[in-house]
Amino acid sequence: MKNIENGGTNSNVKSGSRTDSAVDFGHVSVKKVNSMARPLIEWFLGCQRKHLPWRKTKDPYRIWISELMLQQTRVEQAIPYYRRFLKAFPTLPRLAMANQSAVLKVWEGLGYYRRAKYAHEAARIVLKDYRGKLPNNYDDLRALPGFGPYTAAAVMSIAYGKPYAALDGNASRVLSRLFILQEDPTTADAKRRRTEILQGMMRGSDPSTFTQALIELGALLCSPRSPRCSECPIQESCSAFRYLPDPAVLPIRKERKKKPHYNVSAGILERDGRILLKKRPNTGLLANFWEFPGGKQLANRSREETCRIRFKSETGIEIRITDKICVVKHEFTHFRITVHFYTVACQKSPSPKGTARWIRKGSLKRLPFNLVSKAGLEAYERKK
Ligand code: SF4
Repeated sequence: MKNIENGGTNSNVKSGSRTDSAVDFGHVSVKKVNSMARPLIEWFLGCQRKHLPWRKTKDPYRIWISELMLQQTRVEQAIPYYRRFLKAFPTLPRLAMANQSAVLKVWEGLGYYRRAKYAHEAARIVLKDYRGKLPNNYDDLRALPGFGPYTAAAVMSIAYGKPYAALDGNASRVLSRLFILQEDPTTADAKRRRTEILQGMMRGSDPSTFTQALIELGALLCSPRSPRCSECPIQESCSAFRYLPDPAVLPIRKERKKKPHYNVSAGILERDGRILLKKRPNTGLLANFWEFPGGKQLANRSREETCRIRFKSETGIEIRITDKICVVKHEFTHFRITVHFYTVACQKSPSPKGTARWIRKGSLKRLPFNLVSKAGLEAYERKK
């Protein structure tokens, strides 16, 4: 990449209460920075995805739920969940008063379940301390469970129209290219710099529309691998377009560490119309979700032996394997698993120990399952 870091023009405009002289806009003049918002917003008003349900509201509660769901999730996947969630909990007080299991059930399949747990906890606090209305104040939002800098700034700008810079992956990528920012965008310094730049850019425009427009530009045109620069409304101001043979080289991507992989064996035990399930602890990964007893592959043991031993240690019940049902692969944030599901049988209907419970089959649909256990259960039902 051609290094043009030293060719930039610094600015000395005011942004809110701070001076923009500290902000390095790289190779782009302050005049151009200030003139970007208008074509960006005009493009957004004409080309945005109008079918996205959260575009039709300014209700802070709904904006918050959409922002939570869109973290780590594709837009098209999030839409049905968003509709289902708001049908079940149309207002913040309704969410606060629901039980956690019902909230997890509606979130089931969307992944990153801590988001649902935090939403529920935050809703309870807001109902108690703010009469059920999300606070119109950045610091108060940040104090709520699950409100990181992005979520708080997104609610402040999109719902409340306040000039807070919401820096998500899309916005960060666009900024990396507009200003040729060559540092790793995931570092704290890089985020601080991008946030300052964003605040400078949004000065004088409607924060709600500006924030959505920049994120939409990243999603629709300034994509990670093949930006569509010929259609871009701010192409003229874009340094990467002007100076680089391929803007897609930015942002600089860190080499990803290979995730560790684990084999897991799990047993499905049914007796007298009931299935044995185990509830996960109420903290940590997949907290409070239900799953089939089993566990990680034991050294020097076959998968079937692992299933028998792990099943017994989790439930206290001796089993024998009767059939193999399916293999389900899944990737979590920090590791990958391959789960081998078996049907298993036992002598009597003993009482299980720990958090294992016999659950009537008719009640299964009310319990929250993670994607892997759900896939195992569906394969079991198909095979019967
Ligand atoms: S011109 Fe290309 S690289 Fe620059 S912001 Fe637009 S789409 Fe992204």
